[in-house]
Amino acid sequence: MATATNTGKRQRSCIACGAQADKTGLLRIVRTPAGAVAFDATGRAPGRGAYVCSAECFAAACKRNKLDRALKATLGSDDYDRIAADIAAHARDAREM
Ligand SMILES: [Zn+2]
Repeated sequence: MATATNTGKRQRSCIACGAQADKTGLLRIVRTPAGAVAFDATGRAPGRGAYVCSAECFAAACKRNKLDRALKATLGSDDYDRIAADIAAHARDAREM
């Protein structure tokens, strides 16, 4: 292995199960500067981000309020439903490509 240098490829970990991956391998949830919470399909939206590795981990993170803590935001069940639907749609798109 090469010596550690700051390449900008930081490892992120899933807030539910703790699995580590490059950020491109994780699903990003973002709290935008305007305060809205959304699924970030691009992984580059401005704002505070939290990562999960799968739709299952998103559901688990919701159940344990881990997403609220990670984003320092209060999410309602409508937020969870909307984000879960966006993640499901994203996963379906990824399979079709
Ligand atoms: Zn996970």
